[in-house]
Amino acid sequence: MLIDKVGMVRRTEVLVCGSGSAGVFAGTWLARYNIPFIILEQRPGPMEIGQADGVQCRTVEIYESFGLSEEVLREAYHILEVCFWGDDGEENGKGIERKSRTMDTENGLSHMPHVILNQARMNGLMLGEMERLSRGREGQGVEYGWVVKSVEVDEGKTKDPGAYCCKVVAEKDGEEEVWEAKYVLGCDGAHSTVRRSLGYTMRGDTTDTIWGVMDIYPLTNFPDIRRKCTIHSQSGNILIIPREGGSLTRFYIQLPVGSRAKDVKLTDLQSSAKKIFHPYTMDFADTYWWSAYSIGQRLATEYHKDYRVFLTGDACHTHSPKAGQGMNVSLQDGYNIGWKLASVLLHIAPPSLLRTYVVERSKTAADLIAFDREFAHKFSTKEEKEGDFVHFFVKSGRYTAGFTAQYEDSEITDVGTSTQELASACTVGMRFPSAQVIRFCDCKAMQLQRVLQSNGKWRVVVFAGDIRTWSHKQRLEKLASSLDSLVQRFTPSGEDIDSLIEPILVLRSRFLETEQAEIPDIFWPVTGKWRMRDLHKVYIDDKHYNSGHGYAYEKYGVDPQAGAVMIVRPDQYISKVTALEDLDGITRFFARCFIERGNTDEVHDRVGSIRSAAHNEGVASILPVR
Ligand SMILES: Cc1cc2nc3c(=O)[nH]c(=O)nc-3n(C[C@H](O)[C@H](O)[C@H](O)COP(=O)(O)OP(=O)(O)OC[C@H]3O[C@@H](n4cnc5c(N)ncnc54)[C@H](O)[C@@H]3O)c2cc1C
Repeated sequence: MLIDKVGMVRRTEVLVCGSGSAGVFAGTWLARYNIPFIILEQRPGPMEIGQADGVQCRTVEIYESFGLSEEVLREAYHILEVCFWGDDGEENGKGIERKSRTMDTENGLSHMPHVILNQARMNGLMLGEMERLSRGREGQGVEYGWVVKSVEVDEGKTKDPGAYCCKVVAEKDGEEEVWEAKYVLGCDGAHSTVRRSLGYTMRGDTTDTIWGVMDIYPLTNFPDIRRKCTIHSQSGNILIIPREGGSLTRFYIQLPVGSRAKDVKLTDLQSSAKKIFHPYTMDFADTYWWSAYSIGQRLATEYHKDYRVFLTGDACHTHSPKAGQGMNVSLQDGYNIGWKLASVLLHIAPPSLLRTYVVERSKTAADLIAFDREFAHKFSTKEEKEGDFVHFFVKSGRYTAGFTAQYEDSEITDVGTSTQELASACTVGMRFPSAQVIRFCDCKAMQLQRVLQSNGKWRVVVFAGDIRTWSHKQRLEKLASSLDSLVQRFTPSGEDIDSLIEPILVLRSRFLETEQAEIPDIFWPVTGKWRMRDLHKVYIDDKHYNSGHGYAYEKYGVDPQAGAVMIVRPDQYISKVTALEDLDGITRFFARCFIERGNTDEVHDRVGSIRSAAHNEGVASILPVR
């Protein structure tokens, strides 16, 4: 037997198969919560080059929540405008001309732009964060050169939350090893071994379209080479994506039906491009990377096995690259499951939380395929009426920016009992949007979403109006005292009071007339090693000395007289909108998604044993590592 052969079985809490976008994101969350996990990756090292490049505004927001957006924004190409080119329509066919141009991202959608940065760098940044969080700990990180061969689940043990019921066989340098894990993530891309091992298939297109992609240094007189463009010509269609750094440009070229990816040569792509750009010249000083790959629009038949093995990213959805969604949707799968797995393993939330991954992300994947099908069709076929494609492109802007995902009612998305009209521009089930506010303690004008870092905390964001008005002040004080007992009920003893549920206050008072002493204690609690007051939880929606007025209440659709409370998940999605007076509703919500403190006190024991199993002693806090 294999175990006898190698003499050991290796164990971890979560085994992640594949270190692509989805795997690295899930791993970063697990590192953040200090859960032992291993990523097995078949490559000899991190991705170095190529693949996807389009980064949605929403993805940049997520990078910001991990403290990594500055690097992304500094290095990336920012897409601000898109140009649409087509045939000039003249009989002699003089070639292409610019038909129209438009802004890339609708005003006000996000405080972050749509950018282009190669996937190797995007993954590398997140990998760096994962490694920073894991530094000095054993039992966490990527092991390269391992090919996952099979995954199985011992169905008889899945009811026991502590069981290492998943078995993974992996091979390195001709030697096989067996791993046991409580959970397995199939983040191993379009040809997923995990998926095949479970007997699941992909459903959808029966044929694949073939795409050529090349990152080149163009020698051209085409005027829009530094703008994102679509070109529809009689010789074929191209999508131009200017790359970071100022010189490199990516061309996506859809190849004729019947092409085979492995037969495509770089010279085929170059000669297609030359023809499409006519009458402009197109030569190639150098080619940095190129590839031809086949893509079908398909969805996996299942997304999980007994809620112990989960598929993510390309392992459960594949589609064309035209709308730049591949990396984004995949990393957001990892972003969705990572914090949930950690919460379950730390006994903060019941295992049923994991069902929401399947419900939420399978719907997102289905929406993606439907969108991509329409987008691909419009891109590849002749317009019925000139301007049809441009119209569709503009209409799809919210989707391509990453802002249409809306999670349905569940234990963590309370659409049913929310009072949506109290914050009419903040839809329950969608991501919490941003607006400028002033941080009260130091007068810094900042985006409110930036406060909601991906550090595992749930937020109760309280819009309390103007606390110089007696009724508003009273209402806030009442809410604060009940929040205090609510938070104590669920926070494990010995942890900071804001470590699981963090109250955030947004006032519509005059900045210069508000005093700290008027603000209830729960919004400036004593925390941390030095037992200091944390003053970074109170924000004012008022005119700033230098940065103007953010009008946050208007942007969120909150009437200062009525006020509102928003419960926001660790991944910035809105769980509930309700009134400041709805103390019972807020308590009921948390009672539904958390395990109460009586039980969470076990967390210390559990985490202690998880960590000592991973030789991970010396970590003080059970909740996410900052
Ligand atoms: C060649 C190529 C070019 C692409 N170009 C574009 C593009 O230009 N634009 C775009 O939007 N999308 C593109 N895509 C798609 C995009 O890259 C994916 O949508 C995205 O990377 C999916 O992320 P993921 O984490 O699910 O999977 P991946 O990024 O594919 O990561 C999967 C990881 O698992 C590893 N792995 C696979 N099998 C095993 C195994 N058995 N054992 C251990 N490790 C394993 C792989 O080495 C890889 O690191 C391209 C894909 C490919 C393959």
